[in-house]
Amino acid sequence: MKDREDILRQIEELQKKFLEILANNPGIVVVNSDQTGQVKETHSTRTLAPEGEKDVVVEIENASATTHAVTVLPTIYLDGRQHPKVYVHLGEATGALPKFKPVYSNPNLVIGASKSHIMNKEGTERFLKEVLFIQPMPKHMLLLIDSWPLFLNHSFIQQFVPQGHKVTILNIPKGGTSLSQPLDLNYNQQWKSVMRRLNDAILIHEIDYKIHVRDNLLRAISQVYWCFGAPRFCEFRRYGWYKGGYLDTHPAPFVTPPKYLFGEGSEGDCTCGEPGLILCPYCEKPHCFICFVANSHRCA
Ligand SMILES: [Zn+2]
Ligand SMILES: [Zn+2]
Repeated sequence: MKDREDILRQIEELQKKFLEILANNPGIVVVNSDQTGQVKETHSTRTLAPEGEKDVVVEIENASATTHAVTVLPTIYLDGRQHPKVYVHLGEATGALPKFKPVYSNPNLVIGASKSHIMNKEGTERFLKEVLFIQPMPKHMLLLIDSWPLFLNHSFIQQFVPQGHKVTILNIPKGGTSLSQPLDLNYNQQWKSVMRRLNDAILIHEIDYKIHVRDNLLRAISQVYWCFGAPRFCEFRRYGWYKGGYLDTHPAPFVTPPKYLFGEGSEGDCTCGEPGLILCPYCEKPHCFICFVANSHRCA
């Protein structure tokens, strides 16, 4: 009980500081980054057959040899934008990416690796240098991050801030992320839901795409991050800020990414003639899994 009171008091303090910084620094750009574990095995345990139909027996493959645990670090802005790049940290048996066989790459991915998928110092440095602090970078950034040890080490972060820029750091108190971490209040759950839906689709439609293979997982992450950055999800991205108490006005009504991507219209025919599965949040056309995910559909 005392702990909870303590956390609540710290959150109150954080919000006070946040508003003070905003009031005293017109033009400051507020960003939030968060590490989210990408579940390696996202097979749903629920029955995949539509209600009322006979149970479908789904064979779940043993993926031990190829499974990769991953940490994904998305970044969103208080104004509803999403950062153009996402950092992905892979756990690799060798502790590094393969030297001679290039991994899947995409302009929206920065990929690092170590023995475990848990972020290390090197990964954090790359995240700061190659994602968060790339140009065009705001003159003054307010960075809202959790109390993970390297994020509490402000001098470590500050050494990577490019000249002529200023970064103010605010840490979300330990134990307070479920109350005041914007990405954790909306975005991350929807992200997991979309990854699960893709995985279900692979099983139900017997699509030849092994999502736990490194390149396929990276391709899917890149595609989902691109989808989540669509202008139509701006209010969705702002909602976590509102829920965390950083915005006083409720964002306009929005459709969440899983509802949009797999909702009405997603099952129309793909341009290739196959039945569609995913509605592109940019061109608003249905696409089959292969055209959309495997072939990295980009129309914007
Ligand atoms: Zn499209
Ligand atoms: Zn297609």
